[in-house]
Amino acid sequence: MSDEMSLRDLLRIVIVGHVDHGKSTLVGRLFHDTGSLPEGKLEAIQAMCERRGMRFEWAFLMDAFQSERDQGITIDTSQIWFKSARRDYTIIDAPGHREFLKNMITGAANADAAVMLIDAGQGVQQQSRTHAYLLQLLGVRQIVVVVNKMDLADFAADRFAEIETTYRQYLADIGMQAAHIIPVVARDGDNIVKPSDRMTWYRGKTLVEALDGFVSATDLTSLPLRFPVQDVYKFDERRILAGRVLSGRLRVGDRLLFSPSNKTARVASIEAWSAPAKAVAEAGESVGITLDEQLFIERGDLASHEETPPIETNVFQGRLFWLPNEPLRPGASYRLRLQTREVPVTVQEIKALYDVEQLTNAPSDAVPHHGIADVVLRSQAMLALDRLEDNPKTGRFVLTDGVNLVAGGTISMDGYPNQRQVVTIRSSNLTEVEHTVTHANRAQRNGHRGGVLWFTGLSGAGKSTIAMAVERELFRRGFQVYVLDGDNVRRGLNANLGFSPEDRAENIRRIGEVAALFADAGMVVITAFISPYRSDRQRARNAAHGTFHEVYIKADLAACELRDPKGLYRRARQGEIGNFTGISAPYELPDDPELVVDTQKWSVEACVQQVIAYVERTFRS
Ligand code: ADP
Repeated sequence: MSDEMSLRDLLRIVIVGHVDHGKSTLVGRLFHDTGSLPEGKLEAIQAMCERRGMRFEWAFLMDAFQSERDQGITIDTSQIWFKSARRDYTIIDAPGHREFLKNMITGAANADAAVMLIDAGQGVQQQSRTHAYLLQLLGVRQIVVVVNKMDLADFAADRFAEIETTYRQYLADIGMQAAHIIPVVARDGDNIVKPSDRMTWYRGKTLVEALDGFVSATDLTSLPLRFPVQDVYKFDERRILAGRVLSGRLRVGDRLLFSPSNKTARVASIEAWSAPAKAVAEAGESVGITLDEQLFIERGDLASHEETPPIETNVFQGRLFWLPNEPLRPGASYRLRLQTREVPVTVQEIKALYDVEQLTNAPSDAVPHHGIADVVLRSQAMLALDRLEDNPKTGRFVLTDGVNLVAGGTISMDGYPNQRQVVTIRSSNLTEVEHTVTHANRAQRNGHRGGVLWFTGLSGAGKSTIAMAVERELFRRGFQVYVLDGDNVRRGLNANLGFSPEDRAENIRRIGEVAALFADAGMVVITAFISPYRSDRQRARNAAHGTFHEVYIKADLAACELRDPKGLYRRARQGEIGNFTGISAPYELPDDPELVVDTQKWSVEACVQQVIAYVERTFRS
């Protein structure tokens, strides 16, 4: 790569549109008008047309390019197609939906921006909608629409306005927006590079000006540092961590955070292969680094700077493209590959299966061959990752069956919290002091053991109602009992927390710890919180060291919504409350609760009796 090239920015665009709307003509014209054609190419094709008595078409240029490319041994997706004064462009071809989708989702071809063609004569058609929907699914957000063949519409401003209004409305309906909508005549070059003198009513940008205004995701150096460790080599005393800098910049002296192991150390040196040691390494470079401390770092650890760490989680939502013939089903396990890390994962749920022809999606129990779906994946181990939106490299994943690739996908998180905050231990130098009053001493005095009854369930399922009644009855029976619920916790201990996924996770973490302390003190503590995430409940269980009892207060969404004791569902449906469990935020069902209390089937009294019986059975010494 020459210096000049490496300094220039590259934008990868995909051109989509109905077959006859003028794609090839537009590409031919882009080559020519930007002065990107090799010397003599145009003349050669014109001469060929003359010899054969054919009318010259701009599309022939594209065809000629394509066939040269097809003869090439390798397909280079970063090959430059045309250049503007500002940067280089590459066109990712979109031959058929399936292939295009697969390439885009697996990251084989990643478009920064899209040009969508609409024929001024035919207007917005089904395919124009399908293409927009696909781009939306793939996360392409920089879009320019060109309304082509304006000559066939007599260069009429009102025809253009009509198409513009229709299409803008459609895009808005699917949550998208076009940066520019431009009237052009691709064949004659109107508004491609030069402003058209036949449509002076149009004051906006030309196509190339519009494209020049887009930002290129290939500028990975400006993103936060991501350096996945590929190998660890030991040379005498030293350990060299080898890998490729995926994004950002790494400097000698930087303090690095390794995720998910959460260890930190400074970069002592950067060793480039067969080159002198250097002070900086940038996105795209493969290097080896040494640290100022001996840490146990493994292949798969992801290094970042401390201030800009990746997300840490053991569950995430992503959108995948499914390759095998046999469908993907919930409960199945695969190997998840995140850059250099590979861990087993289970498919927890298929949130949405997309129908790209009908432009709809729905929950499903299977993803068919070549299907696109939003799924929730769960692992035992903590993972370090990013959302696609934040990083095009670490925001992607691949699934294998141990041998073959079965899916490629992009990470969105959608409603799942970053667990970094709740798993990081900041205090050090702690020593536990032994109590001289033992659990047995306390149990003997109280007449029962301590423990946590962890109620979980949807809002309105009956957690508070049952918890308060159980507290009353257990107290009457002489138990040391106390209920932790939203009222006594959110106003004090957790007054600084809101309802974002992260704050919810932290809320539950603190409640889990407080409940564990109550239990340790010998009390029966009942917690009444939705606690929608399995990972959070598992952490609460771990905190309570074997005295944890998960009680699923069971009522389905329809029943809870009908009860709506606090009017919250109504408000959530009206969009007044965001992140509302069951409506706009997930609820993960308990997978193996100690007790299930079905409040749809039984009266409050019967439910309370069920819990009391459980406590008498389990907590009496
Ligand atoms: P949560 O604490 O789970 O959000 P609440 O206890 O505040 O739920 O509200 C549950 C609502 O459902 C109350 O209005 C309660 O009277 C009603 N309900 C109906 N049947 C039952 C039952 N079997 N158990 C508990 N609550 C019930």
